[in-house]
Amino acid sequence: MSLSYPPNNSILIIYFAVRVKDLFETGKEYPWSRPKRCPRCKGIRLWGHGFAGRYFQGFVQRLWVKKYLCPDCKSVHTMRPSTHWRRFQSSRFVILRSLLYKIRRNKWRRSLPRQNQQYWFSGLIFQASRQKNIKLPTVEVIGELLRGSIIPVSHSIHCECLRL
Ligand SMILES: [Zn+2]
Repeated sequence: MSLSYPPNNSILIIYFAVRVKDLFETGKEYPWSRPKRCPRCKGIRLWGHGFAGRYFQGFVQRLWVKKYLCPDCKSVHTMRPSTHWRRFQSSRFVILRSLLYKIRRNKWRRSLPRQNQQYWFSGLIFQASRQKNIKLPTVEVIGELLRGSIIPVSHSIHCECLRL
């Protein structure tokens, strides 16, 4: 037993290879595969625990993502498409493309709302300065953040480690 566990009932996120379009088409019928082990305590019993509604860019209504409960450590795990970071409605691909465009050309992409792009880029500046002590992010910095399992556009000071 490690004392570094987060408190009971905290929600962990499990990233899964799911296409958002498939989620939209199948709704709660989507064939989620149950994780083999609890990511926190490594217990092998995980029970279905209903669904959570989440918004994704390109879809007006919320889509349903499955939750699992671990009866051993009582934590709830929410599944998440691996195409998206936690708390971001746009896909990683869309976000990264905008960041690279901004870094290389110093412009925002016309095809995306500027406000979103400014929010992503300010998150990148924040993480680059916090994690790497770098004021002007480069393509290499994005790569380093990703390799360090950091969500490069997160505005959170808490660990935004990817759980893959
Ligand atoms: Zn557990």
